[in-house]
Amino acid sequence: MTASIPQRIHREDRAVVITWSPEHVSRYPSRELRLQCRCAACLEEMTGRPLLDPATVPHDIRPVTISLVGRYAIRIAWSDGHDTGIYTYELLAEICGCVSCRGAGGRGGALASDA
Ligand SMILES: [Zn+2]
Ligand SMILES: [Zn+2]
Repeated sequence: MTASIPQRIHREDRAVVITWSPEHVSRYPSRELRLQCRCAACLEEMTGRPLLDPATVPHDIRPVTISLVGRYAIRIAWSDGHDTGIYTYELLAEICGCVSCRGAGGRGGALASDA
């Protein structure tokens, strides 16, 4: 899947909403997105082993700031103080839980369980 550049990135308390195109809007529940963090503190780089204990992530976690990283990713600072997480558009497209992505199979829908 080729990663596209979002047209719009919108921050809510409970979710991050990314508009890829008028036909494709992804809604990422905050806590699920926090758990998807791939930074060195959350995921062991060599093995891909998760270092982040989901129990330590508050249920009411929310994104505090979202900043753009180049043309390929966003960086999210979370209300639990974690701000090293970089989410590439490629990853975000991959974990989109919307109906059309889930219907396409593959690894899409990783976030759908929270719905
Ligand atoms: Zn992290
Ligand atoms: Zn989607």
